[in-house]
Amino acid sequence: MKPDWQPLGRLTVNERRLLRVHGRSVVAVALFYSAVATVLWKLGHNRVDGEVLAWALVLLWSLMVPYLAMIERGLTRAWQEPTLSFPAGIMLAAMLLLTAVHTTDGRLAVMLLYFPLLLLLSFRLEPRALGLLSAVVSAAYGLALLGLYQHRDEQLELASALLQWLAFVAVSACFTITGGGVNALRRTLGRHNRELARMVRQSRELAIRDDLTGLFNRRHIVEVLDYQKSLADRHHYPFAVCYLDMDHFKAINDHYGHQWGDQVLRAFAEHAAALLREGDYLARLGGEEFLMVLPQSNEAGALRVVERLRQQWANAAFDHMGGPATVTLSAGVAGYQPGETVEALLARADHGLYLAKSHGRNQVRTG
Ligand code: GH3
Ligand code: MG
Ligand code: MG
Repeated sequence: MKPDWQPLGRLTVNERRLLRVHGRSVVAVALFYSAVATVLWKLGHNRVDGEVLAWALVLLWSLMVPYLAMIERGLTRAWQEPTLSFPAGIMLAAMLLLTAVHTTDGRLAVMLLYFPLLLLLSFRLEPRALGLLSAVVSAAYGLALLGLYQHRDEQLELASALLQWLAFVAVSACFTITGGGVNALRRTLGRHNRELARMVRQSRELAIRDDLTGLFNRRHIVEVLDYQKSLADRHHYPFAVCYLDMDHFKAINDHYGHQWGDQVLRAFAEHAAALLREGDYLARLGGEEFLMVLPQSNEAGALRVVERLRQQWANAAFDHMGGPATVTLSAGVAGYQPGETVEALLARADHGLYLAKSHGRNQVRTG
């Protein structure tokens, strides 16, 4: 079974909040414990020396404070179990047991604190780890009671000690089983949520991609263009667009077949994607026509990029694949002029493409 933890940065906001709530709750149990142990000692129900108790509390809080700080600051987010539930649970359970052993009157008041702790841990620990912890604590509590009975340093009745222990084990088992169920439910829910998020990502990805080439589709590039225009208007960023169109593609299709044409289109997509800078966008508008959006690029910069693409593509050989020796493309580039509409910008790029075609193809022109 896959662990249910997430690598750093992948915890959702909700998961991070839950992590903090969990950390604070564990610390709250430690706080209750400190208060109960101190009150019992004050009342004289605890045989522990005051100094020993003080040192035990100092030790506890010298671990609890960094524990809480680490969780609050998200430092444990990348850990296998970011709440550190198992070590924290073991430590607090051990403190409770030790205090209970040394408590003459009100032992159950101490051991009762074990149940909110168990409930908390059941949210994080696997059923097996929870069961193990429960079994270890139950056995330790039983042994402690037995030890107390055998040493007879207090009036401990066997029947009442046994009853105390059985009640403790029974409640422990109930908490463990119910907690295990809650945990299993939480894991299933988490798995379903992650699966749903993956499917949403996947369907969004499909909705913005062109089937044949895997490039963006027309709908998405139109959104990109609107966004780039708003960025450019707000922050005065330059950006440029470019129409690309394969030359004489109809003839190639007619001669070598539609399938062969499809292969060329896919090859072009790979070729262009390898050449694009990170942040540039390329979409297939349909047929053998493409649109590029080059953020942070002025017209001259875009011309250089597209010219390089044209040259490299014109040199790509296809004859070994049983097709034409080469396939060329023509392109029209336009840099965004502040204030103009997307339609006006595209019309200038289209005019550039028209010029490239009418001047003999296999070239790049501005509109
Ligand atoms: P020009 O140099 O003027 O652009 O000539 P052209 O033949 O490329 O121009 P036109 O736009 O008239 O033809 C485009 C051709 O592209 C028509 C069709 O045969 C082909 N085509 C359109 N869509 C697809 C497609 O999805 N796959 C393939 N293989 N070919 C397509
Ligand atoms: Mg064409
Ligand atoms: Mg065309």
